[in-house]
Amino acid sequence: LKEMNARSVWHPMAHPADSLANPPTIVTGAQGVRITDVDGHEVVDGVGGLWNVNLGFSCQPIKDAIAAQLDRLPYYSIFRGTSNDAVIELSEELRDFFAPDGLTRAFYTSGGSDSVETALRLARQYHKIRGEAGRTKFLSLKKGYHGTHFGGASVNGNANFRTAYEPLLAGCHHIPAPYTYRNPFNETDPAKLAQLCLSALEDEIAFQGANTIAAFIMEPILGAGGVIPPHESFMPGVREICSKNGILLIADEVITAFGRTGSWTGSRHWGVQPDLMCTAKAITNGYFPFGAVMIADKVVEVFEKDETGKAAIGHGYTYSGHPVGAAAALACLAETKRLNVPENAAARGAELHAGLLALQEQFDVIGDVRGGHGLMCAVELVSDRTTKAPIDKKSIGQVQEVAYQSGAMVRVSGPNIILSPPLVLTSDDVQVILSALKAGFASL
Ligand code: PMP
Repeated sequence: LKEMNARSVWHPMAHPADSLANPPTIVTGAQGVRITDVDGHEVVDGVGGLWNVNLGFSCQPIKDAIAAQLDRLPYYSIFRGTSNDAVIELSEELRDFFAPDGLTRAFYTSGGSDSVETALRLARQYHKIRGEAGRTKFLSLKKGYHGTHFGGASVNGNANFRTAYEPLLAGCHHIPAPYTYRNPFNETDPAKLAQLCLSALEDEIAFQGANTIAAFIMEPILGAGGVIPPHESFMPGVREICSKNGILLIADEVITAFGRTGSWTGSRHWGVQPDLMCTAKAITNGYFPFGAVMIADKVVEVFEKDETGKAAIGHGYTYSGHPVGAAAALACLAETKRLNVPENAAARGAELHAGLLALQEQFDVIGDVRGGHGLMCAVELVSDRTTKAPIDKKSIGQVQEVAYQSGAMVRVSGPNIILSPPLVLTSDDVQVILSALKAGFASL
């Protein structure tokens, strides 16, 4: 399998030549919070699929809902002229679910990158309908990750995800992220750093001209960039600045929606109402490629009361509102509520975070530990704590490998080990992850 994989599979986010030298783990099964590889080795999945399998791998109500929907109506488009009952039922549920955030309409997509693309498009169109066609630029955070399409890639903060594909969308600018461990201000106090980043945002808006900017897009807690929770003043500050300047706020909640942060959404976590919210990933627990952009009343009104003829939506996806995805999402939402999953995410997240901080006391290689908001944590590894020089690729790979052999799959992203396990894991599972990581660090 490894040889065949190397000759026929190109892996996303990997070097094409790497497959044989560094063969991937071949996963052949998954149950509960555990995955099994082709050699029969079973581990706790510290990655939760890819931040998306919140309810674990054997969620019977979702499987049943998918099977029933496949029997009844496997597919029909919701492009102009048709809808389906599954998507209507889901939309009513989402409307109730997102009512506290002021988000009442859903635009369906087939995943996170699509959701970002849709939000960026709707933001530009919103301004055009309102007669502000000059508002075309997008601002975002330097450590942000917003997917793979050209729009999302343009607002991605990490240059590694942009340069190979340039020229990207014109007019995208990135401001410093509230990342206390490393930032251009050398500020370690989270509250002060939040203020400095907010000032940087205001400066960029002034420099660009507020009336040229369509939207600011941010993750409420930065995920793929290394799990960076901002100070509690940051997102409310961004909201205020956007409102003051007529700029739409897009919350990219592809990771954070539906419980991961210990709250139902990341925006709610910070007490913020965004204008557009991107969701995907956990909306179907990883069982179906699906996403939804939730739209605030303020935006809805502009589109629905349009008298200019500019509000016709000129984009969509074949799988927008896929009935099987909708049925999966509906069952997933019901199960997430029934199990009160955010509560477990908060409790287990606190245990995981505390355990990682304890490991930091024992191992100099751990430069920074981030978490404290549900089940998204990261440890940033360094070769020298004083200089904060990043760890080398081979050593972090070794930590990952030894952790895997010791019982847990963890994810490596640059110098970070990222943990985003299913939200239904137990305290015992948390201890398995911690002791596997400990073995990894001890091996260095
Ligand atoms: N936005 C965020 C915040 C993400 O984390 C991701 C994926 N990790 C995306 C967008 C893109 O989602 P997808 O991979 O489903 O296209």
